[in-house]
Amino acid sequence: MKDNQLYQTFRDLPKIDLHRHLEGSVRLETLIEIAGDSGIEMPEYDAETLRPFVQMMPGETRNMQHFLGKFQTLRQFYRSPEVIHRVAREAVEDAAADRIKYLELRFTPAALSNIINCSYDEVVDWVCEAVDEAAQANDITVRLILSMNRNESVEKGEQVLAAALKCQHKGVVAVDLAGNEANFPSSPFLDIFRRAKAAGLGVTIHAGEWGDSANIREAVDDLGAARIGHGVRAIENGELVKMLADRGIVLEICPTSNYQSGVVDSWAAHPLADLWRQRVLTTINTDDPLVSGITLTDEMVRAVSHLSLTVDDIKQHTLTAAQAAFLPDSERAALVNKFAVWLGMNHGNGEIPPAS
Ligand SMILES: [Zn+2]
Repeated sequence: MKDNQLYQTFRDLPKIDLHRHLEGSVRLETLIEIAGDSGIEMPEYDAETLRPFVQMMPGETRNMQHFLGKFQTLRQFYRSPEVIHRVAREAVEDAAADRIKYLELRFTPAALSNIINCSYDEVVDWVCEAVDEAAQANDITVRLILSMNRNESVEKGEQVLAAALKCQHKGVVAVDLAGNEANFPSSPFLDIFRRAKAAGLGVTIHAGEWGDSANIREAVDDLGAARIGHGVRAIENGELVKMLADRGIVLEICPTSNYQSGVVDSWAAHPLADLWRQRVLTTINTDDPLVSGITLTDEMVRAVSHLSLTVDDIKQHTLTAAQAAFLPDSERAALVNKFAVWLGMNHGNGEIPPAS
């Protein structure tokens, strides 16, 4: 199938994104308007001159520092509750426009509140409100994940957990540990994640992206992660791959992000298909649509054209994503049924279940 046919095929499919950062999902045009309104200094107030500050360009250096540099610029834009409301609403609209039907959107309260100087509770409330309104208006279900950074203090992590617990009834379903995993251990956050899990929140941990595979084992065994953000470096350890497959741990794979941040040397070296063939539950996600200049449809096209998966494999990945949603059991089962029907698949019992 040619790329444009593939694009149309995946564009039309109902989709799920489990790993998308709000901070990396802003529209370029919105940034320009905010820069103009707030007097943020830019070389020029034009999309093409702003783009290289916030998006990876072809031929750019591919490493972690360079990739993260784009967020340094992005963090300057969160100037008011109105900006946060708008960015959250547009992120949901953009996902819906790509025919994503279920989205778990994550954000770091510290990143959104540092300029406004408000509490985490306030910023989380604003995002919950905006997302709820936008989801209802755009025929998409959205849940939220709150991230804390391992390179920041445990005290901040405690505040993130407190905000997550307060907003559980408003759509927050899980907590995430992000940040520099190569140089900062997860151990100081262990107790926070144990309490999160005990309180019914989902746990997903960024691991095995810039740090080695030992971080993945630690995330599963010690922090209780049911899902791993990225986890691609599991491929370096055969025993770990088997453990992930046996225990049904889900990897939230973001192929273009891995390529652009230099986690893999080339597209050919990306382990998605290899992990999938070794029975690991892999899913396909975007990470940061603005920074990477992609949609989820683009990621699915690349998984076929660059990573040797088939269209049916991608459908299976979508069904896996439904099964891995951080939802109460009955809602998750309904989501799985809906997707099984939409994708024309059964899910193990030989029958296509009725739509709910
Ligand atoms: Zn991420």
